[in-house]
Amino acid sequence: MQAARPDQSAALFKVVLGLALYVVTSALILRFATDGHHHSTIWPGNGIILALLLNSSAAIRQPILCLTFAADIFAKSIVWPWTPWFFASAFLNVAEIAWVASLARLYTSHDKPFGSARTVLNFMLLAGLAIPFIIATPAALVSCTAYDGTFSLSFWSWFFSTSFGLLIFTPTFTSLFGGHFLQDLTDNGSYSLWKVGAVLLCQAALSALVFSRNKYPLLFIPAEALIISSLLIGETGAALSFMIITIAGLVCTIGGIGPLGLIHTDRLGRDVMLQIYLFILLLTERPVSSILMSKRALIKRLTAREQMLTLAMINAADSILSFDRDWICRWAGGASLSLLGVANENLPTLRLCDILESHNREVITLMETFFDAEQCVAILEIIAPHTRDTTIELNFRKVFDAGTAVAAIATIHDVTRRKLKEDDIARQSESDPMTGLLNRAGFQKRINALFDSAYSDFSLAYIDADHFKDINDQYGHDAGDTVLKTIAARISRQTRETDIVSRFGGDEFVLAITRNQKDALATLERIVQAIHNDPVTLDTGETILVSISCGVAPYSVGVSVESLLRQADGALYEAKKAGRNRACGLSAVIVSPPPRAS
Ligand code: GH3
Ligand code: MG
Repeated sequence: MQAARPDQSAALFKVVLGLALYVVTSALILRFATDGHHHSTIWPGNGIILALLLNSSAAIRQPILCLTFAADIFAKSIVWPWTPWFFASAFLNVAEIAWVASLARLYTSHDKPFGSARTVLNFMLLAGLAIPFIIATPAALVSCTAYDGTFSLSFWSWFFSTSFGLLIFTPTFTSLFGGHFLQDLTDNGSYSLWKVGAVLLCQAALSALVFSRNKYPLLFIPAEALIISSLLIGETGAALSFMIITIAGLVCTIGGIGPLGLIHTDRLGRDVMLQIYLFILLLTERPVSSILMSKRALIKRLTAREQMLTLAMINAADSILSFDRDWICRWAGGASLSLLGVANENLPTLRLCDILESHNREVITLMETFFDAEQCVAILEIIAPHTRDTTIELNFRKVFDAGTAVAAIATIHDVTRRKLKEDDIARQSESDPMTGLLNRAGFQKRINALFDSAYSDFSLAYIDADHFKDINDQYGHDAGDTVLKTIAARISRQTRETDIVSRFGGDEFVLAITRNQKDALATLERIVQAIHNDPVTLDTGETILVSISCGVAPYSVGVSVESLLRQADGALYEAKKAGRNRACGLSAVIVSPPPRAS
């Protein structure tokens, strides 16, 4: 025979334990806590079996209910003389358990029964009120018919006994059968297991003391202790405390001792008083437990969210900073260290301009205008303060309170790759692919910047290759290209970094030489000579002697780029007219190198 799997054995053990507890508690209750005509003071069995069902797979729930039916009849037959009415009351117990169990989704959240204040309330309404109330009528009819009970007393005794049985015993036994009882007891986190045990022990001692004293009706003391239990050890501990009080109350009241024994009434009257006492206790304790539970659930959720946020912040590639209206950083998170060179904990109290180590115009303008501007968003792109090769983008967004912008949130991320790509594209769109010099657009951008910078000591030169058509015609277009590339390289070698060198198209080059006209002409003279003195070697090995003509015009305040270009072009025309292979100023030939044989 094959051995049972561990989970099957555990399930079987739970079923046997649950049914055994049902039989034992039912037999004891029937023996000691009923008057033989009405129902018992409390019926824990239904709560125990419901807890068992909540912790069992769907496949064995029906067999459990059938076995409960048998166990109910068995328990009664041990205590009472046999009657066929046992079938009826067993059926009603099983029906009540099955009905409450079938509605488990109403008191289960996140796969956990009684996991929230709402599910606890649902369970109280279902198992503590609605279903026992409905089943109480047929149950009372059975008692009246079979055991000569009074209908109303039978009705209420069934209602209270099964309702308490379900409310008081189901949560604790659900934890027990689920195998997480000890964990649930310490779940509120403030107390370790032995402290929880100590609180429960105190509760047990106090309950035993109060319920065994005949002299003083100190019944409010266990109630107070129960509330304290709720506060100290959470809802599972409180449910256990409730069970302890119930058992102490039941045992003592059945034994005819304790404060309830002081009431001048019969046995049934004392049972009803105990039920009312427990009912009031339940009404006091449950709301406190529910409020605590929802608070704890809220704290748990917030803690989980906080942990997630911290984790996200630690692993974020971006940095997030919050600033007040004076641009003082109030909070920082994320990758501030790598993006700004300052750790998050050191950022609060620093001003934006100090964080960025920047007093550049854009940053200062943003600080002065952001909160008064209509737009809610502003974007800054700057070089990272601590490393010169990283570009960061700062995305500012206003934070409003009652319609007023009270703070700004800045999201900072690394845009170096994008910036490099953009620069690359810009470079490509502004450069001449053949010579590598700037093209017309590139020249235009640089010359505009030069004009804006108010730098005035520069001249503009127009350069044109002489008889270039002939070179193309005689040696071919490729040879022409080689000549153009050589001219470009030689021009570049004779100029400085601050100069702007471009090819406008064809055999035309335009230069902005950051010198006055005289010095610019000297530079052009060197260029003219550098080109003419050294023949160009073609790919075929042939050499060609080429020359260029240059025209130059000095910058003067108020002159436009266009008119400066026109003046330089005029000077170039002069140079061509004067015989080429030379550089000319506006109206006079300045340089005329000695002609060389080609
Ligand atoms: P000039 O001395 O008066 O300047 O005479 P030129 O023959 O050089 O006349 P021009 O400057 O007008 O001729 C420019 C020629 O350059 C016309 C065109 O065929 C040629 N060209 C334009 N772009 C290219 C190019 O990319 N490669 C080559 N190989 N030739 C080009
Ligand atoms: Mg030409």
